[in-house]
Amino acid sequence: MHRARVEKTKRDVFRHHIGPPHQFSGDLICWKCTAAFVAVRAHTNKGAPVQAQYRLAPKTEHDSDCPLNPTVVTNHIAHGSHGLAEADDRGILRLNLPENISAVPTTGPDDDVTGQDAVRHTVATVRPLLPPAVNSAAKIAQFLQMHDFDKDIVDRFKIRPHNGRAIPWGRFCYGPTTESYAELYERCRRAEVFTHPIAVFGTVRRVSHDRSGRPYIVLALNVPAGDGSFHVTIRSWHASLIEPLITGVHVLAVGAGWEIFPRGNVPQLRLWADEHWQLAHWTTTGDGQSTAPHCPPPLTAVQRARARAEARTRRAAGGPAGPPAPSASPTPTEAITPPPASETAVDPAPELPQPPPARTAPAADASSADTPMTDPHDQVSLAQPAAIIAPRPKQPPADGTPQPVPPLPAFPPPAPGEGGRRWALGQWLKRVRRR
Ligand SMILES: [Zn+2]
Repeated sequence: MHRARVEKTKRDVFRHHIGPPHQFSGDLICWKCTAAFVAVRAHTNKGAPVQAQYRLAPKTEHDSDCPLNPTVVTNHIAHGSHGLAEADDRGILRLNLPENISAVPTTGPDDDVTGQDAVRHTVATVRPLLPPAVNSAAKIAQFLQMHDFDKDIVDRFKIRPHNGRAIPWGRFCYGPTTESYAELYERCRRAEVFTHPIAVFGTVRRVSHDRSGRPYIVLALNVPAGDGSFHVTIRSWHASLIEPLITGVHVLAVGAGWEIFPRGNVPQLRLWADEHWQLAHWTTTGDGQSTAPHCPPPLTAVQRARARAEARTRRAAGGPAGPPAPSASPTPTEAITPPPASETAVDPAPELPQPPPARTAPAADASSADTPMTDPHDQVSLAQPAAIIAPRPKQPPADGTPQPVPPLPAFPPPAPGEGGRRWALGQWLKRVRRR
């Protein structure tokens, strides 16, 4: 854990206070109860670095009312889960995902006597609830967050997808470590078919806007993967789903439609959210307490109708399709025709509306997930050699008038040579650039 308290002075100490030498003296206790703590210096375990941390002293347990007590918290989560989560004698909590993860019972959660877990919409009288499965997952994520995703604590949680075997928490929920994000990225890259919803936990690093002014959030920037890196983003056709997710808010995004968007300077691992319940979110207060998980207000009938109309308009104009109606089939591939290379090159997080994958087709969009993650320019070159190699003026014209564009070189490039088509194309491009 990143935090502890000096018993005598009640001063809170953090990871960076751990030495050598320690920047505190005296006995340590849990920062939420009276349990004895010890400081563990940074070390390596089987070659893997382990950062400095505070841990329970041997043979010690948190107080029964401590929010960091795993047994108490797992029982509490199980109790509020509408029967979806079960805690066993060893303190392992298994969350069973129902076939329809978004189903909301007509009654509140079992422990909702105070309305603490209710998700309140500030202006409407409706009180949308997070579906129990998502609510329970969010509570688990909150608890793990308090424990800095300590492996021993994470190991206490399992997920059993509908009609599937129980899997470790880390195979259902990715983040917040870069290693974990990279694991999901690799799964998407392999075009793995997800047979159950996948969650991603993270904290909003940045809110950006696409070219249409539509907001989207970035949960992680420049996560290393292989020879390159990627961003983790959450997008939606509906601004109202994204607007509550301001910088610093913690988000658990749930969906089967995780995909890699390979264009732009840095590829994106992203999810298109269609429904409010996919975006559980909360904040933490100064003393480390989390607020109850919320979700954005549900879409209105007007929003859905407008979105369908916009999608029809886009299709009629030959542009990318919009969000499909709930029963819509996967959008045809022509909807994701690449934009002109010049646009791709200048916009690191381009607005290239792609349809969110229909929930009935949970596989990652193979057309993007399949894309080899080679150098983006190389990729663009192969796709549209004429556009990328068109000679450009070295200096902008002094008077701002557009320069005449020289005639394009012969197309197509040569047939495959001894090194294959890719090699031949590279040679051809070199020749063209020398002109
Ligand atoms: Zn405690």
